Amino acid sequence: MIPMVDLKRQYARLKNEIDQAVGQALEQTQFILGPNVSALEAEIAAYHGLPYAVGCANGTDALLLALRACGIGPGDEVITTPFTFIATAEVVALVGAKPVFVDICPDTFNIDPGKIAAKITSRTKAVIPVHLFGHPADMDPIIDIARKHHLKVIEDCAQAFGATYQGQTVGTMGDVGCFSFFPSKNLGCYGDGGIAITHDEEIASKIKMLRNHGSAVRYYHSEVGYNSRLDEIQAAILRVKLPQIDTANDARRENAAAYCQAMAGKDIVLPSERPGCKHVYHQFTIRTKNRQTIADALQGAGSASAVYYPVPLHQQDVFLKMYDLKENLSVSETCAHEVLSLPMFPELTPEEIRLITDVVNNVR
Ligand SMILES: *Cc1c(COP(=O)(O)O)cnc(C)c1O
Repeated sequence: MIPMVDLKRQYARLKNEIDQAVGQALEQTQFILGPNVSALEAEIAAYHGLPYAVGCANGTDALLLALRACGIGPGDEVITTPFTFIATAEVVALVGAKPVFVDICPDTFNIDPGKIAAKITSRTKAVIPVHLFGHPADMDPIIDIARKHHLKVIEDCAQAFGATYQGQTVGTMGDVGCFSFFPSKNLGCYGDGGIAITHDEEIASKIKMLRNHGSAVRYYHSEVGYNSRLDEIQAAILRVKLPQIDTANDARRENAAAYCQAMAGKDIVLPSERPGCKHVYHQFTIRTKNRQTIADALQGAGSASAVYYPVPLHQQDVFLKMYDLKENLSVSETCAHEVLSLPMFPELTPEEIRLITDVVNNVR
């Protein structure tokens, strides 16, 4: 079976270096906020050309702490996309604010900047664009609207480490960029992990304090915080993988090009890459009216496929119970019915891509 992502192949390729890095971290026994966490923070900040990066327990917490650090709380509204993983809006609810959903662009699956202004009220405090599947959201108009209305911009980069928009890496354009190192992400560790990056010293020190029980000086606590530190062993693993992230993203891009070439001209919508954007293909997601037939045929031929995401967030029970959401977000709803993601990881072989595309091309 060809899986959606094959971490065994990745580990086999990196085994020597990773085992050595983990062994060293075990010998050092500085397990909480140890030297690998600070080194990784410095390396990730440098990768993005920003002064600050703060490791967190996972990507959800990076978003949660970023919202808290930006002062978002009860009574506030936060604009985001309904076509994303639940965590993006879950954190808004967790700080006591209300998620306000804006429909997406059909070509990138990302928030449609042209539909944001109509949803801004006196309570709107922030926007969370998501760089879904590895394609950057359209940041220039988002930043313009945010400046005009004094909104914070928190980028959800969980699926897009290394993607660029007009030459800038995602996570560097808003007030905070939040990343997840969940094992299947394009930069993943071998457990949970996340990081927040920023150019703002105040936001960085606030996130640092919040991740460590609201404490900047040991045993002196100024806020109700969290236990949300990036694990030292995960940081050691990430330090092996970080120097290879651009190569890994390029391999994903080559696989995406091979997929597109093999399926061109067929009755499916292929993922697109907008001018000025570098897509890193965390997922390779097509749109088709024959989703179930294709998924069944792939299963029969020995390949996985997956639906990200079957239910947009404005139709999720959790939010229907909490908020008055009578919205018609038709692009998100159509995409939720038509999307199908195919296996995508750097080590995918041309033979596997041929098997998968032959199946898709032969289903009618
Ligand atoms: C994975 C993901 C998150 C959450 O990251 P975790 O590390 O799993 O907490 C948030 N947003 C998006 C878009 C994601 O894909």
